[in-house]
Amino acid sequence: MESIPAYFRSVSLPYGLWQAGRRSSSLAVRPISGHDEMVVEEALATGASVARAGNLLIGRCVALSAEEEALGFDAARALTLGDREILFRALYAVTVSPKIAAGLPCPACGETIEFDLDLSIPPEAPPEPGPVHHLDVAVRQATCRVLTGADLEQAASAHDPMAALQHACISDDELSSDTLARELARLDPNAETVIDLTCAACGHDTQVYLDGFELIRRAMAVHGGIFKQVHCLASAYGWREADILAIPRARRRRYCAMASGGG
Ligand SMILES: [Zn+2]
Repeated sequence: MESIPAYFRSVSLPYGLWQAGRRSSSLAVRPISGHDEMVVEEALATGASVARAGNLLIGRCVALSAEEEALGFDAARALTLGDREILFRALYAVTVSPKIAAGLPCPACGETIEFDLDLSIPPEAPPEPGPVHHLDVAVRQATCRVLTGADLEQAASAHDPMAALQHACISDDELSSDTLARELARLDPNAETVIDLTCAACGHDTQVYLDGFELIRRAMAVHGGIFKQVHCLASAYGWREADILAIPRARRRRYCAMASGGG
C-alpha cells in the first residue's frame, strides 16, 4: 500500500455521492496545490461563478479513495450542497489549518467578536436516505431531490436564481418556496451551518454562516493570489512557473514573504 500518498484524508459524506444508482459514503481529499489555486483563480478571473469554481476545485482535489484518480468535474457537480460544504471544510483543514481564529464586527456595538472555529465539528446526519424524497406537505404530494453543485452553477447564470433552484429540485412547482426551503434544510442539514456568537463587550447575540469555499478563497488570496505569488518568486529567484506551483503552500508563502522583504 506504500504507493498511496499519505497526505490523503478520508472524509465521511453525510448524504453521499449518488452515481448510477450507487451511493459512495466516503471520499478522500488531498491538500490544494498551486496548480489547483491557479485553476480556481483563472476560472473566477474569466467570469466563472463561485459555484463553478468550487465544483472545479472539488473535482481536482477529491477522489473516491486515495488509490483512485480525482473525481472530475461532473461527479463533483453531483454532490449535494451539504456534502460540498463538508468537503470544503476538509480541504481547508488539510491545506491550511483544522482550526480558524476569526473575528466579526458586532452589529450592535461595532467591537470585534473573536471566536475560534474547529472545522472538525461533526456533520449532522440527514433524516432519510436519498436521492429521491417524497414530500407530503399540506395535502400536496411531491417528489424532490436535494440541491447539488450543478444546480448552484446553473442558478448562478439564471435570470432568477431562486426560481431556477426551486424548479431544479421539485416535481410540484406550486409548492411554496418557504416550504421547499424548509424541507431542503431538513433533508440536507449540512447545507447551511450557522454559528451562534455572543459579543463579549455588549452581550448582543448574533450569528455567522460557515462557508467553507469562502474560507478557502480568503486563504488563497494571501500575497495577492497565486498569479502574483508566481510573479513574485519568478522575479526574485528566476524560478519556473511549474516549479513554483509544485512548492507546498506554506513554503511558498514563506518565500513570498522573504522575496517581498518581509523577512
Ligand atoms: Zn457588541
